[in-house]
Amino acid sequence: MPDQIAYELSTRYTPYADGAAVLDLEQIAPKSINAFDRPLASLHLALDPGHVGGIWAEWEWRNFRISKEDHWVREGELVLEVAQRIRTRLTRLGAKVTLLREDCRPINPKTFIDYWPLAAAEEVPSTELSLKAQLGHALAVRNRAIHLAIVRGEIAERARLVNEVIQPDALISLHINAAAWPDGDTEQVVDSDHAHVLIFGCLSEAELALPRQQLRLVEKLSNGSGAVEARLGAALGSALIEATGLPASDYQGRNAIRIDPDVPSLWARNLMLLRLVDCPTVLMEPYITNSHSSYARIQKALSARECHEPLPADDILVEYADVVVAGVLRAYERH
Ligand SMILES: [Zn+2]
Repeated sequence: MPDQIAYELSTRYTPYADGAAVLDLEQIAPKSINAFDRPLASLHLALDPGHVGGIWAEWEWRNFRISKEDHWVREGELVLEVAQRIRTRLTRLGAKVTLLREDCRPINPKTFIDYWPLAAAEEVPSTELSLKAQLGHALAVRNRAIHLAIVRGEIAERARLVNEVIQPDALISLHINAAAWPDGDTEQVVDSDHAHVLIFGCLSEAELALPRQQLRLVEKLSNGSGAVEARLGAALGSALIEATGLPASDYQGRNAIRIDPDVPSLWARNLMLLRLVDCPTVLMEPYITNSHSSYARIQKALSARECHEPLPADDILVEYADVVVAGVLRAYERH
């Protein structure tokens, strides 16, 4: 920056005097950046680092490592760093960026105690009076209440916050995908690694029959979010495949559908967050955390952070942030 200022002093501001000798260039930090350098100046984007992480990672079933020497892989923590990196980059490009969480605590003000009656109603009590049976039931109610608080209640609260308070132009929800463990064996990584992005759609007949889901479908059809989701989703989906070189994920069955023949990584699916949020929303699902390739890259990334070493050139979290920045620019850039 001082070089640029010195250049401007000598060619424009003090061309016939030695401005650089008089002024302390290190002290000069230009505040307003040229509008042409801020292509996203009118964009307000919300970022949802998916899940919670920290002490809740185990309850979210998003906490694993292959061997005892490895770093724990916690999706909620990885995507929080990705969100912070995206915010830094997009803010420099002029966008206003709001994160739905800044640490590994739930934003849902309700705790599992608040969900206890609901959990108790869902878990059928044992008719057996033995201590073992009764303790087993109490444990099941507690586990259900925690799940309701940090998964379902948390997603509902995030959607409410976006709809009622933040009201951004769009929301990007950041996740990292994982594959089912082969034969339930957590010691075994899988071969297949792939990536995709999701937008709202693909309601089943049973879902369509529910009045609350019908209302959401009508809202999403009438509020104009659909076309933006398709455009932003296509931009993020194509940036994702180009940058990672991964194949597009494939859904078997009828719970998701491809909507753009040019972007095979873009799928429509009826996920709770995608349904509940009013504004255009895209959910990212790059990488398979428990695949050979991505697991190794995540371990490398976590080691570098733990040892305060320079990040690897192919750092997976930096790559993820780059993908989102590239996709957002592709979708919104005015120049
Ligand atoms: Zn996730």
